[in-house]
Amino acid sequence: MGNCIHTMRSKHGNLVRDLSLDDASTKKIKESPQLEVAEQKTGKRRCVKIILTRKQLEQLLLKCPEGVSFKLPETYAELVVAAVEEVVVKDKSDDLNLSPLVKKPALAKRYRSLRDSCLKANNVDANFVTGMLQYFHYRNQLLGMHHLRIASKAGHLQGRYIYGALLMAIGRTEKGVRAINKLTDEKGIKAVENCIEDFQISLYRIDCNVKDIYVTSFIKMQPLHQCHPPEISTACSECYHFFLMTVVFEMMIGLN
Ligand SMILES: [Zn+2]
Repeated sequence: MGNCIHTMRSKHGNLVRDLSLDDASTKKIKESPQLEVAEQKTGKRRCVKIILTRKQLEQLLLKCPEGVSFKLPETYAELVVAAVEEVVVKDKSDDLNLSPLVKKPALAKRYRSLRDSCLKANNVDANFVTGMLQYFHYRNQLLGMHHLRIASKAGHLQGRYIYGALLMAIGRTEKGVRAINKLTDEKGIKAVENCIEDFQISLYRIDCNVKDIYVTSFIKMQPLHQCHPPEISTACSECYHFFLMTVVFEMMIGLN
């Protein structure tokens, strides 16, 4: 096996980007990944499953969350592989650290089998990532909120913020405000500010859409007298919640 890493097309026709791993990690990932050539053909090509240990997976996610391709031995030379779409982890996956995917949930579209097995194991990160994908990418509000709620209840910081902010945005104002207040009380304003920044990053490669309800919520939450405009550093609770709603609204219309 050469030093793998070609540009290839996945079975869905998406380009798998060129990647380079440093020698050590390439070696480690390559050392023992088990390749299974599945019998079924997908169009003109077969798909290959890679079974990784927990450590190999974490390394893969850290080094190249956007995807990786493996060059197969000569006998399989005609196969084109998008390996990461078929990643399966040997070890238990309830507490697998999926932070690169939490940061940019859109990347998790490539890791479907991994997401499924982590969800089955009730992995908190996987619930967050799936919630984000369902809500924003697949536009399934119900399923999205379901998974975000699970992540939030389990104490996922980013999950708590986004779940609260979306509740406000979809008109569940009181519930959203309660969730945000609890988060702010427990973790502090700074933590919420970090969540806002991370929210922006997590929308990477995700197209947002503006729902009518966002506009309604935005108008509903606007304080009669905006006594604390965003440029000043203190706010009453009404102005604070309106500020958070404004941030979400601006992200959805693509202003940020
Ligand atoms: Zn105010």
